[in-house]
Amino acid sequence: MEFIGAEESKEVLDVLESGYLFRYGDAANPAFKAKVWTLEKEFAAYIGVKHALAVTSGTTALLTAFSGLGIGPGDEVIVPGYSFVASLSSIIYARAVPVLAEIDESLNLDPDDLEKRITPQTKAILAVHMLGNPAKMDEIRKIADKHGIPIVEDVAQSCGSAYHGKKAGGFGKLGIYSFNIYKTMTCGDGGMVVTDDDDLYARCFAFHDQGHLPNRKGVEVGARSLIGLDFRMNELTGAVALAQLRKLDSILAHLRKLKKVYKERIATLPGIQFREITDEAGECATLLTLLFKTPEAAKAVADRIGSVPLINSGWHVYGNMEQILAQKTVDAKKCPFTCPHNARSIRYEKGMLPKTEAILSRAVNLSVGLRDKGIGAACGLNPRDTVEIAAGKADEMVKMLKEVLG
Ligand SMILES: *Cc1c(COP(=O)(O)O)cnc(C)c1O
Repeated sequence: MEFIGAEESKEVLDVLESGYLFRYGDAANPAFKAKVWTLEKEFAAYIGVKHALAVTSGTTALLTAFSGLGIGPGDEVIVPGYSFVASLSSIIYARAVPVLAEIDESLNLDPDDLEKRITPQTKAILAVHMLGNPAKMDEIRKIADKHGIPIVEDVAQSCGSAYHGKKAGGFGKLGIYSFNIYKTMTCGDGGMVVTDDDDLYARCFAFHDQGHLPNRKGVEVGARSLIGLDFRMNELTGAVALAQLRKLDSILAHLRKLKKVYKERIATLPGIQFREITDEAGECATLLTLLFKTPEAAKAVADRIGSVPLINSGWHVYGNMEQILAQKTVDAKKCPFTCPHNARSIRYEKGMLPKTEAILSRAVNLSVGLRDKGIGAACGLNPRDTVEIAAGKADEMVKMLKEVLG
């Protein structure tokens, strides 16, 4: 959002001045600018997949992805206990059961723990790429393939990141993205679903638009493929997202430069440790996560910079999601959790993922490209800082860390 400027204005005005705001239109009509359609095409090419489907948010992208896979009552979806609450709530409103798994020091799904959570009911693995850094997709894919379980990638926090040369979101059956204000590219709110699979694309499309075929081409009344909803993106939103997508790589290149200087200087502090980065060149570099030896050290540093250790970063940690712990679905009978035929009844409570809690208690975020108190990143660099400013702020941080840690 820090890089919104003339390019976004131009795209939006293009739509506004034409007066035509709906994503479908007649190609022969000069008022129809096809921003959403163009965004989808460019986004698919950017990620390196066959299909991209624009929707209203990352949350509706997740719900669309699960619906595309045909996930329903009694099915289980494995999800790491460190993610945004939407990763869990979308599983619940797909009427499935979230099965929580541990993270490792990459702060993403722990492949060893993942395998232990698989049951005959497991219908998907939600691999979340947290804080800009891709999950261990080689290991996760091996396990998923062995058990024949589809992966959905939640790339909401890592749009534009790559893992071993391939863009995140292109590894799973489906990938989803968010264009909310706190993400690497934004149009206020918006989302995307990607896939290489023609049938999945058609199903996701139908779900997001009242059962219609892609782009409403072909059969209509009397032949709709399934009961859908409406998560369509409009042309104004698409226009902003299009301009943002076209500058995403330059934004990320800038952040990677800032983070390199910031991290290298802080790394000179004896004993300092960082979160495990799975792909140094490919990650988004939105944040620098410090991993201390003890929760006490993390707490002391967080206090000093006016922040909190990640264990206290609100609705990104399962144990802080009170509405999930109390199973407050819209259904008074708490249906998605207890009623369907073969469903396991799971209690969600603080402490059920001891490894995740231990790691997050030792972790503190510093900002590089993202300033968000909600994710525990209230201090550090600003995205528009120069490399010189980043170096200066790193030296100040080292001094401060020395004082706090002794
Ligand atoms: C932001 C986010 C979402 C949800 O995206 P919205 O666009 O806010 O609905 C899903 N998963 C993760 C990991 C996120 O960070």
